Amino acid sequence: MAETDIVCISPIDGRELVRRPIMSEAAIDAALAAAREAQKSWRHVPVSERLARLDAFLNALLAMNQEVVPEIAQQMGRPVRYGGEFRGVEERARYMMGIAEKSLTPIPADDEKPGFRRMIKREPVGLVLVIAPWNYPYLTAINAIVPALAAGNAVLLKHASQTVLAGERFQAAMDKAGVPKGLFTNLHLSHDQTGRILGSGLVDHCNFTGSVSGGRSIERAAAGSFTSLGLELGGKDPAYVRADADIDHAIENLVDGAFFNSGQCCCGIERIYVHETHYDRFVEGAVDLVKGYVLGNPLDEATTLGPMAHKRFADLVRGQNAEAVAKGARAHIDAKKFAADTGGTAYLAPQVLTNVDHSMSVMRDESFGPTVGIMKVSGDEEAIRLMNDSPYGLSAAIWTSDVDAAEAIGDKLETGTVFMNRCDYLDPALAWTGVKDTGRGASLSRLAYESLTRPKSYHLRHTL
Ligand code: NAP
Repeated sequence: MAETDIVCISPIDGRELVRRPIMSEAAIDAALAAAREAQKSWRHVPVSERLARLDAFLNALLAMNQEVVPEIAQQMGRPVRYGGEFRGVEERARYMMGIAEKSLTPIPADDEKPGFRRMIKREPVGLVLVIAPWNYPYLTAINAIVPALAAGNAVLLKHASQTVLAGERFQAAMDKAGVPKGLFTNLHLSHDQTGRILGSGLVDHCNFTGSVSGGRSIERAAAGSFTSLGLELGGKDPAYVRADADIDHAIENLVDGAFFNSGQCCCGIERIYVHETHYDRFVEGAVDLVKGYVLGNPLDEATTLGPMAHKRFADLVRGQNAEAVAKGARAHIDAKKFAADTGGTAYLAPQVLTNVDHSMSVMRDESFGPTVGIMKVSGDEEAIRLMNDSPYGLSAAIWTSDVDAAEAIGDKLETGTVFMNRCDYLDPALAWTGVKDTGRGASLSRLAYESLTRPKSYHLRHTL
């Protein structure tokens, strides 16, 4: 059956929250044509003027925070007590704007040749399609939108159905900031329509953030069109607590890294390997903290753990937990103590599993939910082997007091980012990237501008 509407079912009560008709083909064509037209002028606007416009956009967006916080809770379940995600949005946007001039400056040829002017300029790629997920609806989208526009591109946004209102907020902030008509357009698209746009070659680059299966579909849809792709996909991020770690700090931060946003963080901690000297204390401390979560309505200030974004996501994690227990894992949390988890809804009690191994789905496949498996390890070698035993590689966190050891272990890890004594964070100065099934390309940092521009070489002989 053809999709005709985009529907967001609120995880709070399972009721329909928003419904939008998908766009007509004519409206899509018009948006593509308007973007192409607007980009022709925008690419010649000096970077400083583009940045001034983006600054106005950012301010307009940030001013919406009060309305956006409960809206996020209603759409995907994050508790309002955490205050939304605009602090990170501002940090990343301002960083990417701050480095735009430098990142877009022409690169002179490495060697001087008398009589010649030689350089590589960075040209915008043209039209950038941003496809965003619901888990951090503003943070994930801003990573691509701001640098793409700063680099002189036009942007088309297809936001997740679960957070369709976030796309509309971006549009409202762009309009308020007076961004030229057509330069940024939020599109309500079905998967088929998105695939057709990608296959047509009418966009020049697509930044997709989402699941591995979604990334595969996007790659297939774009095949043969020469559209370049940035793919930021799923993960199964590990942490390793070494014998020399500050154990209390590790417990507190890793529990937060595993359970914040109900575990629905791309770089959330999903597997923990603890050195045998700390293992018992770590498990005890982690379980104690997890028991303290308050699962409930995310609009309630007392709630520290909201529902998952959709019942089907909670069912997947329920299945993983059950499979692990059936294979001999020990579940440390009694779900009955979390009254909001009645079994058939998006509300899911957090879980800590021990006695786990890599034959279990919960240690191999992305959970993207409030569950974590903890394993005992004898030292660095075993921890490295287990951390690398995964089809994914987004981030890996090492808890230690030895920065040289962290770097040396990091050199052996198959991952996009190595953290020491922190996790579940994106540093805008560093490339956000993944290995293996977690993706291709890089966003954030000056490297983000590489994929949003194309090189153009100038070889000019001025003295004959
Ligand atoms: P998803 O189901 O793959 O969807 C992501 C976006 O892609 C949504 O806008 C979705 O639209 C769209 N989409 C999915 N399949 C499509 C298709 N065949 N054709 C066209 N559009 C398609 O992922 P999600 O559930 O929203 O997000 C969770 C996943 O994202 C997790 O795996 C997480 O690890 C990953 N993630 C990764 C990063 C990173 O930096 N690596 C960051 C955040 C999230 P609809 O909503 O309309 O289906």
